[in-house]
Amino acid sequence: MTTRIAPQAPVWVSDRAEPCRSCGTPIVWCRTEKGALMPVDAVPSKAGNVAVSRAGSELHAGVVQPRQADGMRAAGRPVFLAHFASCPHADQWRTK
Ligand SMILES: [Zn+2]
Repeated sequence: MTTRIAPQAPVWVSDRAEPCRSCGTPIVWCRTEKGALMPVDAVPSKAGNVAVSRAGSELHAGVVQPRQADGMRAAGRPVFLAHFASCPHADQWRTK
């Protein structure tokens, strides 16, 4: 495995990307620890705090602490941003 300076989304994330129904940004749906589905930006973010992992046919999302997120990026692992945080139409998500 090669280490990249700017981690990119692994294929198993980018392959599942679909446009957000509100703003068209590519997102992937991940299962949280609580079992809920959460939209996550398909492109890793410098401000990201969500670690995405593969779990069978699903993706799992886990929120990490800022220091942990920095460590992951330093190790070449992508960190993602919850789409709730970046969607310009987040109001629509929250009131749903
Ligand atoms: Zn959106």
